[in-house]
Amino acid sequence: MPNRPIHLAAAVPLGTLVAAHKANESNSLQYLAEVAGGALGGAVGGLGPDWVDPPTSPFHRGVGHSVAVSCVLTGLASQRIDAWQAWLREEAARFRCLQYVTVDPLLRAFYGICHVLICLVSGALVGFLAGWGSHLALDFGSVRSLPLI
Ligand SMILES: [Zn+2]
Repeated sequence: MPNRPIHLAAAVPLGTLVAAHKANESNSLQYLAEVAGGALGGAVGGLGPDWVDPPTSPFHRGVGHSVAVSCVLTGLASQRIDAWQAWLREEAARFRCLQYVTVDPLLRAFYGICHVLICLVSGALVGFLAGWGSHLALDFGSVRSLPLI
């Protein structure tokens, strides 16, 4: 049965790769932030099903590991993910513009941090989905497999 280190070893690289693929039109800082967000989102998504269904026994799999629930939620999210990322990138660009026109150094730093954080969230969205999927794929291959519902 895959455990936490195995889930992390699969989810973090997968989340990073998916975020890098989705961010390939971004500038360098935005790209790096989205890829880092993909790694973080992948880690959270890769551990997420076991946070929903804590592994206190071999029969711990419930809603968090449900094939049907995960397919529905991932399907809905994947239809909207491009729009969410586009909106986040617009917001990040807005903060970047504010950063360039502001004279106050503290405010400039604040806008720059907002820009990076929004890019991180954009990457974390796709990384999370990839990480969650990798967790279910690894658990599916185990002896207990996954519950349908
Ligand atoms: Zn699990």
